[in-house]
Formats: sequence, structure tokens, C-alpha cells
Amino acid sequence: MLTNDMLSQWDRDTFFHPSTHLAQHARGETPSRVIAGGKGCHIQDRDGNRMLDAFAGLYCVNVGYGRPEIAEAIAEQARELAYYHAYVGHGTEASITLAKMVLDRAPSHMSKVYFGLSGSDANETNVKLVWYYNNILGRPEKKKIISRWRGYHGSGLMTGSLTGLELFHKKFDLPLSQVIHTEAPYYYRRPDTAMSEAQFVAHCAAELEALIDREGADTIAAFIGEPVLGTGGIVPPPAGYWEAIQAVLEKHDILLIADEVVTGFGRLGSMFGSDHYGLKPDLITIAKGLTSAYAPLSGSIVSEKMWKVLEQGTDENGPIGHGWTYSAHPIGAAAGVANLKLIDDLGLIDNAATVGAHLRAGLVAALGEHAHVGDIRGEGMLAALEFVEDREGRAFFDPARKAGPQIAAALASKGVIARAMPQGDILGFAPPFCLTRAEAEEIAEKTA
Ligand code: PLP
Repeated sequence: MLTNDMLSQWDRDTFFHPSTHLAQHARGETPSRVIAGGKGCHIQDRDGNRMLDAFAGLYCVNVGYGRPEIAEAIAEQARELAYYHAYVGHGTEASITLAKMVLDRAPSHMSKVYFGLSGSDANETNVKLVWYYNNILGRPEKKKIISRWRGYHGSGLMTGSLTGLELFHKKFDLPLSQVIHTEAPYYYRRPDTAMSEAQFVAHCAAELEALIDREGADTIAAFIGEPVLGTGGIVPPPAGYWEAIQAVLEKHDILLIADEVVTGFGRLGSMFGSDHYGLKPDLITIAKGLTSAYAPLSGSIVSEKMWKVLEQGTDENGPIGHGWTYSAHPIGAAAGVANLKLIDDLGLIDNAATVGAHLRAGLVAALGEHAHVGDIRGEGMLAALEFVEDREGRAFFDPARKAGPQIAAALASKGVIARAMPQGDILGFAPPFCLTRAEAEEIAEKTA
């Protein structure tokens, strides 16, 4: 029997963890956490300590842990056919069914879905599809992609470039030159506190338009954005933001990629963030909630307008030169089918809306007047607290005294997992959709 000490030693000696302070971990200054099980909204470590996971892993275990329906679908698929590829028209019952289920749920102008493995690779696919599209339309110079500061779109070469967080660029020679960034719709951190929401929206649209004018619209292919900024601080947009941005994009014939890796399949209390905010994207990126992370699977949902051009491209050039060995992996697809069915059967999207609102109301009741809580925000089953040294001036704490990581650690010691977001001083909550009202109250009480 492996002891915890042995596992911890092997962990430090052999395991390269993502998004981790490598040197501190290797020196044993940060704990090795061995997670062994999960049920509902709780996970459990090897010693049997239970924690309420108020971040659903990495906002992905949307239906909660330990769902036998999904586990059985995976096992059944592994027994029958663990793998076959999806190249040159091959599919499985699971992958074809899942494509149909995704399209049935997507905005009606969407036409097809390509399946990948992670949010990062799906966004890489989307950029390639945008470039291919413009090449087929005979405008090879229209290639730059605009993303927002504080956006998160993955950590590959292109997707790490699209990500607008310094940590993901530093010492990696990113961003690549085809990527340009514009202002985040972050009303709390607006440049001038006298600005109303409407004025700030007009400012964001004007910044975007000025960037397009500087670069030249004929060099810009697409704009990518999350309906609600996630990793950049859980920031819902101010009212009217997406209408204003889409008007600018339409005027300059720039495609819209809605990165719905977090928001897709119900996190905002609507099936897609695009439905929630009236977006009409040309491409939608999906991942996490597609399988609730029971197996890795992502997707790029393609609009009819783009699909017609992709078809024309293959008529002119032969088969599309894009695909992964594991595209539409049958086990991921089987997990996706069972997951989407469960979301419907249990009415989990409605629960995300109502219990998420209850969680935010609890945080406001407990912390709304706190001297160091500058902002409490969220949407659906997403919530965030932003900490400040002084509320009036919205000044940050000295980096060594940041509140987010300290409160996350204190909460963990009380058995609740929240996430200190990587930039700013923000504590994020993104529980599974099956969170109960009592669990929401527990999170708010323990945070206060
Ligand atoms: N896009 C968004 C909005 C995300 O939040 C993430 C991950 O958190 C990604 C893309 C990247 O997904 P993955 O980590 O599966 O590559």
C-alpha cells in the first residue's frame, strides 16, 4: 500500500505540475495534495478530509462529482470501443449523437461542431479556421486577432498570446505578433470613477474602434472574448457592452469568436453565454462543461456563414488539413452525451441561476459593507469578491499582503475551496450547478 509520504516524495521528485511555483513545490514549501474521491459538491483527500469545492475543480465539474450515469457511459464505451478516429468521415454513435445534441442547444445560426480535447486546442482550431476562411475569401492580409486584456483563452502559443494576463506571457516570448489586445469591460476598474456604465461601454467601443483604425480593418480577422471574463477576475460585462462591441465588429467585417469554455452549457443560468447576452458569434469555443470534465473533450461550433466557406475551401483545395488523433474521442463523446442529458434531466441550469443568485446575495449580506471588500459581482453560478486596501480609492493591498490568497487558505482550513484568481486581488467562486441553498449559505458564512 502506498503511503502518503511515498506519494508526496514521488510527487516532488517526478511530477511537473501546471500553474505551480516549481521551485517552492520541489523544496516542499507548498503542500502535495492527493485528492482521492468526490461526491456531489465535495471532494475528499486520501486522509478522508472532505472539502466543499466551490470552484468545481477549475470551473468544470458542472454536474458535480461521482455521477454514476456518466461513469457507466464511459465504462460501457471503453468496453465496446475505446477508440476509433474521426478522420475521413468516421464517427461513433457517441460522437455523432453528441454533435447533434450540441447543435440542438447552440444558437440557431450555428451549423457544425468540430471536437478537440481542451479549451486551448479548440481556440487554436478557431484561429486556424478564421485564417483559412479569409484565405479562401481571397483576403490573405486579414489575419490579426483582437482579444481583451484580462481575457483567458488557454496557454498554447496562439492561445497563450490571446490570453491577456501577464503571467501567461512572461518569459515565454508571448504574445505572438498576430495578436492585439483591447480594453477589458471591467467597470469596477474603469479609468474614471465618474463614468456611468453607459459611458464606460461607449469608451470600450471607442477604444476598440481606435485600435481597428490604427491597425487597419483589412488586417484584422476576428475578435475573441468570453461572455463573462473568467480567469481574468470573474467580470460580467456592463449592460450594453456586447451590443456596442458587435456593432463595431460588424461595421469592419470582423468575425466574433465567443469563448464559452466556462460559460457554455449553463454556467450563467442560460445554455450559452451567447444566449444570455445576445451575441451572434461566428465560432463558439466549448470545453469544460461539455463533459463536466469526466473526460477531456472540447469543441469549436461553426456558424453556417463560415461553414459554407470551409466547404468551398475543400472543394478548391482538398480535405481540410486539420485534425487530432483524439478528435471526437469516443470516451469523451460518451461522457458528453451522458453529461448533457443529466443537465437536462435534473434541471441543473435553472439551479445554477437560482442558487448562484442566492450565493451572491449571501456574500453581499455578509460582506457588502466590509471595509476591504470593494466589489461583489457575478452571474449565474459565478461569484467574485474583489479586495482593496481602501474602498473609496479602490487601492490594492501591497502584493505581499494580498487578501485573496490568505482568505482562500483560511477558507480551505474551514473545508471550503475557493480560488484566488491569478491577477489582481480577487477570490472566485464557481461551484457545481447542483449546489444546494444550504451549501451556498455555508460558503457565504465561512467566507465572512
Ligand atoms: N478559454 C477559457 C475561457 C478558459 O477559461 C480556459 C481554461 O480555463 C480555456 C479557454 C483553456 O482551456 P484548457 O485549460 O482546457 O486548455
